[in-house]
Amino acid sequence: MDVKKETQVSASGVPTAAQLEAINAQARAKMSEEQVYVFSVRLCDDQVDRDGERFDTAALPALAKLFIGKTGIVDHKWSSDSQVARIFAAEVVKEDGVTYIKAWAYIRRGGNADEIIADIEAGIKKEVSVGCAMGRCVCSICGSEYGECGHQKGEYYDGQLCCGILKEPMDAYEFSFVAVPAQRDAGVIKGLGKVKRLKELADEFGAQQEYRALYKQAELGKLYEKQLRDDVVRLCLTLDLGAAEPVLRGVIDKAAAEDLMKLKQALEGRVRELLPVKSQLPGAMENDHTVESGFLI
Ligand SMILES: [Zn+2]
Repeated sequence: MDVKKETQVSASGVPTAAQLEAINAQARAKMSEEQVYVFSVRLCDDQVDRDGERFDTAALPALAKLFIGKTGIVDHKWSSDSQVARIFAAEVVKEDGVTYIKAWAYIRRGGNADEIIADIEAGIKKEVSVGCAMGRCVCSICGSEYGECGHQKGEYYDGQLCCGILKEPMDAYEFSFVAVPAQRDAGVIKGLGKVKRLKELADEFGAQQEYRALYKQAELGKLYEKQLRDDVVRLCLTLDLGAAEPVLRGVIDKAAAEDLMKLKQALEGRVRELLPVKSQLPGAMENDHTVESGFLI
């Protein structure tokens, strides 16, 4: 589903040396500190919004990464000359119990861009509208896919407010500046746009079959990933590394699946070396090996 939000811009100015390096990693031509203007944008946070939805706090780091390299446009025009700003860094910040994505963007000075820079400095272009695609929206009460369980956003169940939790970031889109007079600044709540689910889009464009196939694949992928994490935890415990299971879980649950696959292989090798269990069944070890190399292909 696509999620759109309006957020705030903070004026900044000349980039630091580290920022300039990050900018040049994104820019086509190498730029000097005089050529660029830097500002920060507060993107998505983990608070319940007007649509009764919130981003999963755990999803924010991955979503932040997706915003790096995305461009900012003025007046919602998607032509190349209206692309004026580009996000070169994004981080997850925790402040007063709220976790949010703070992004840093740059504008190349000169021409039309100078007007925009002047507006940002003056607090006129204070808000931006950002959009992203999220894979899932789950019910905060029971954890099912929202819409499949009967709980309603905004309703209370045993004193607990139901909201949709947006998970599994898939993509982040361009952001647009929204011209807001400086006076509106005080007490403005962030605005929200349309929210469209991937499933709704599939229905709209007659791609239900593809959607179902993808959904099924994703479910299988999730199962495989869970199995992989369980296996790595089990192997670490077998090797008696001295860390308790909850500690191992905490670390392994955050690791990327690709890294875990390599780690699993290494740990399995170590287990074979250190604990050469004599199998009761002749040939069981060889069989085990064959199955595994077959599986890797
Ligand atoms: Zn529910």
